Amino acid sequence: MGSKNSKGLCFGVRQKCLFFLLIFIYNLYSKPLAGIITCKRKKLKREVKQVKKIADVSFVKGVIRKYNFSVKKRLGQNFLINPKILDKITDAAEVQPDEVVVEIGPGLGALTQSLANKKGIVLAVEIDQGVIPILTHFMQDYPNVKIVNADILKVNLDQLVDEHFGLTKPYKVVANLPYYITTPIVMYLLESKFKLDSLVIMVQKEVAERMTAPPGKKDYGALSVAVQYYTEASLVTRVPSSSFYPAPEVESAVVKLKLRNKPPVSLYEERCFFQVVKAAFAMRRKTLLNALNSFFADHSKEELQHFLERCSIDPMRRGETLTLDEFACLSNVLWQAKHKDIP
Ligand code: SAM
Repeated sequence: MGSKNSKGLCFGVRQKCLFFLLIFIYNLYSKPLAGIITCKRKKLKREVKQVKKIADVSFVKGVIRKYNFSVKKRLGQNFLINPKILDKITDAAEVQPDEVVVEIGPGLGALTQSLANKKGIVLAVEIDQGVIPILTHFMQDYPNVKIVNADILKVNLDQLVDEHFGLTKPYKVVANLPYYITTPIVMYLLESKFKLDSLVIMVQKEVAERMTAPPGKKDYGALSVAVQYYTEASLVTRVPSSSFYPAPEVESAVVKLKLRNKPPVSLYEERCFFQVVKAAFAMRRKTLLNALNSFFADHSKEELQHFLERCSIDPMRRGETLTLDEFACLSNVLWQAKHKDIP
């Protein structure tokens, strides 16, 4: 019994010794261990911070170097490096969680990431195959981003959105557009009558001025009429060329085009309306009567003068002074004449 007791006592002492030894070891290594954990966390934070900073000149330069990526001027590759401008774009787009946003030309992903951080469901359509692996890498932690390698002018956007997310309600387009095809892209999206809610787009400053110009201003032209027929256009902000890498030679601006629920004017035929607009702006120096006369060979000058008078438009005015209502009236009168409805 006695030996059993002394054994038990011995065991108790050993346990105690072991316990104190463990406390000693814990005290010895807990601080360095905590240090290692904090360091790892910091590293993780640094990585996250790094990913957050795609819109940063040294980051963009680093990526270009690391991936041996050659910036393609012919594709209008000017990457955004100004986070404040990114905020202005996403604020103007008013992206709501789980809302579908199509980004045209995501490039390295600066804007894509901002949109994804707003919890939008992003469909990023990029033409450059060379940028896709880089973009895919940066977007790997964003399950709400879908990247498609395609030419935006060759896709049926409604179909594409439907394929990926289901086309339940109008979707938004947000883009820092390639300047070499800004107008074709905008006109393609509007004329295709895709189920769009709005477009918030970075364009060349002069294009922004033309899109938003009222009648009578020098920038007012066929693009102004078309854009304002389909949308309510407003300027969001001007953007200096220093906000991009490489910096473009021109100044830029962000515009918001909010799609109208219904056209602002009633027309017999849209095609006829745009023909009149084309005619009116084809020869800007000519009076409206002469410009129409060169375009509509089916009608005599007297007839055209009569049509203008029916709409209370002075034939000596120039195309750039006509409002959307006046263009609509003129196109309706012409349409009626063509269909022999005119008295
Ligand atoms: N979104 C990026 C940013 O803001 O940093 C890049 C914008 S960069 C001005 C234009 C992007 O559009 C480029 O990545 C270019 O490759 C892409 N792009 C050019 N033409 C295109 C097209 N037809 N369809 C889709 N993407 C196009």
